[in-house]
Amino acid sequence: MIRELTCVACPLGCAITVDYNDTEVLSVTGNTCKRGDAYARTEIVNPTRSLATTVKVNGGVHPVVPVRSNKPIPKKMMFECMKTINSVSVDAPVEIGQVIIQDILGTGADIIAANYD
Ligand code: SF4
Repeated sequence: MIRELTCVACPLGCAITVDYNDTEVLSVTGNTCKRGDAYARTEIVNPTRSLATTVKVNGGVHPVVPVRSNKPIPKKMMFECMKTINSVSVDAPVEIGQVIIQDILGTGADIIAANYD
């Protein structure tokens, strides 16, 4: 099977072609660096995404705090991760970088407080 991808690992956005079958990636072409090769293989085998959302704050100036995952999360687990994040709240004050949920659903990613921008 052939799949065309746009690499999102840097702003150049190289057009990548991946040839793969049910069990393995056969070839990756069009990438101009190793990061593109790694991105394409991950996208075929186990696509991941960074997660950014908000968490409720108890007793703060703002009702919610922006949060993000500190590493990409498997795309197939996004919905369950969002359910978990939506079920928690954090007490003010909240520090940027504070871990809100450690190792969310065993993904190895922490959900941390982020900047307000
Ligand atoms: S293949 Fe390399 S140079 Fe091209 S978009 Fe991806 S990271 Fe950037």
